[in-house]
Amino acid sequence: MPALLRKRVNSALGDAALRKAVAQACDHSTAARSRVIAELPDFEVSRREARSVRQYALDHLEELLSRFKQSFEAGGGVVHFASDGREGREIITGLLKEAGARQGVKSKSMVSEEIGLGEALTEAGIEAVESDLGEFIVQLAGEPPSHITAPALHRSRDSIGRLFTERLGIPFSSDPETLTRAARKHLRERFLMADFGLSGVNFFVAETGHLVIVENEGNARLGLSLPKMFIALTGIEKVLARLTDTAPLLRLLARSATGQRFSAYTHFLKPSRTGEDGPRQMHLVLLDNGRRAALADPVLREMLLCIRCGACLNICPVYGTVGGHAYGSVYPGPMGAVLSNLIGEKRAEAGELPHLSTLCGACKEVCPVAIDIPKLLLELRARSAKPLLHRSAALFWSWMMASEGRFRTLGPAGVAVASKIPGLRERVGG
Ligand code: SF4
Repeated sequence: MPALLRKRVNSALGDAALRKAVAQACDHSTAARSRVIAELPDFEVSRREARSVRQYALDHLEELLSRFKQSFEAGGGVVHFASDGREGREIITGLLKEAGARQGVKSKSMVSEEIGLGEALTEAGIEAVESDLGEFIVQLAGEPPSHITAPALHRSRDSIGRLFTERLGIPFSSDPETLTRAARKHLRERFLMADFGLSGVNFFVAETGHLVIVENEGNARLGLSLPKMFIALTGIEKVLARLTDTAPLLRLLARSATGQRFSAYTHFLKPSRTGEDGPRQMHLVLLDNGRRAALADPVLREMLLCIRCGACLNICPVYGTVGGHAYGSVYPGPMGAVLSNLIGEKRAEAGELPHLSTLCGACKEVCPVAIDIPKLLLELRARSAKPLLHRSAALFWSWMMASEGRFRTLGPAGVAVASKIPGLRERVGG
C-alpha cells in the first residue's frame, strides 16, 4: 500500500470518534435499506428492470445524448458538452461571468466535486453556498464529502455543534433540530439573494428532455425555482431513453440509499420557453471526463450503470471502518475504488484503491443495478499487477473467484500458492 494511502487509513483507524460515527451511520442505513427492500414483492425482478434500462442507455449512449439535446433545447434550454474537468469548469464559470452572477446556491453534485468546481468558482470571485445540510456542514469545515449521499456522515452531532458555534457564531448545541434550524436560517437569506442555482442531476431523459432530481430537503427545489439562472451538471452516462425508464430506478434509488420508500422530493424539470415559471435560463453541462473511454472497456464499462445510491459504501466493512476520506478520492467505498480508476483527473493516483476491499461480495448483494463490483476490483488488481508472475496469478485469481464452483475446487490450493509468492496475497486480496 503506498505511504500516503497507508497514512490516511492509519489516521482513520486511530480516530475513535470518526470510526464510531461512520459505523453507526452505515449500520443505520443498511438496516433501514433491508427493511424497505424486504417489502418489495420481488427485489430481483425490480433489480433486473433497473439494470436493463441503464444497460439500454449505455448501449445507445450517443444516439440518446443527441435526442436529449434536441428535446431539451426545443424547450429553450442549452446543452453543453465538456470533454474533461477543465472544460466543465470553464463552461460554468464562463456562463456565470457572462450573466454577471456573483453569488448562488448549490445543491448536491458529486460531479461538481469530481471537477473541483467549488475552487474554480472561488478563483473566479463567485460564491456558491452549499444548500444541502450535509454539504453545508463539510463546506463550513473546509472538507471534502466523505460519502456520496451523506457527505458529513463522519461527523458526530457534537462536532457539528462545535463547528456551527465557531463558524456561524451560535450557542453550542448538539440537538439536530436546533442545528438544522440554524442552518436553515443562514441558508434562507442565501436563497433569496442568489443570482444562480447549481445542481447535480440523477437522470436525464432523451425522449422528453426532462432532468430528474431526487432530494430530501427541498433545497434543490428552491435553487432551481428562485434564481433566474439554473445550471445543472452531470455525467453523460446518466441519460435514460424514456420517461417510463425512471420508474424502476426510482423504485430502488431511495430504498437503497437511505431506506426510504421514496425521497421527499422528486423533480421532473424541463426548460420553459415562456419563462413564466422557474428560471429564465436553464443549462445542462454534460461531462465525459473518461466516461466514453470507460464505456469502450469490455469489462469495466459495467461500472457506468451505477446510480450513486451509496448502498455499497454503507455495507462495505472497509468503508464502515475507515470512512470516506481514507480513500483520498472523490468517490470512496467499493464503487469509488473502481470508478476513481475510470473517471476524473486523478485516475493515475487511484491505482491502489481496489486493494481497499475484503472482496466479501456484500456490495454486489445490495447494488440496485447488480454491478459485480468484486469482479471489477479483481480486474483492476490484475491489470495493476506488473511482474509477469503477479499478473498471471492475479488473472488466475479473478477467473477462480468468478465462479463459486471453481472457488470451492481451487480456492484452498490458490491460497496456498499465493502465500508462497511475496506480496501476492496483498495484491489479490486472498
Ligand atoms: S455501485 Fe451500486 S450500490 Fe454502489 S453506489 Fe452504485 S448503484 Fe449504488
